[in-house]
Amino acid sequence: MSNSKYKNQANKNITVTLPKDVAERLLLLRKLGCRSELFTAIQNHLEAIVSMYETHSNVNQHSWKTAKVCPECKNGVLLEKARKGDVKPSFISCSTFPTCRHSESLKKVEK
Ligand SMILES: [Zn+2]
Repeated sequence: MSNSKYKNQANKNITVTLPKDVAERLLLLRKLGCRSELFTAIQNHLEAIVSMYETHSNVNQHSWKTAKVCPECKNGVLLEKARKGDVKPSFISCSTFPTCRHSESLKKVEK
């Protein structure tokens, strides 16, 4: 397994575990000195996948920028979410849901 570490705005490390074959192929391509346009294409695809995931989970992708560490579990970050069927986010909840069920009304947070 290969882990890729990312740092988000809340300065929290996120570890992404790739399937072994995908990680090995990516490593091989990197060793081959793959052209930068290809990596841009890969990054664009990854961004599209993450966006789809966010849409599916009703997570407002812009909330990552201001995400604060969850006060309850101190492990997840608070993300803006919309209720099913709604477009506008109305609450924030812990990114580790359902492990941590902390949530706050968005109006309460904006005060
Ligand atoms: Zn939490």
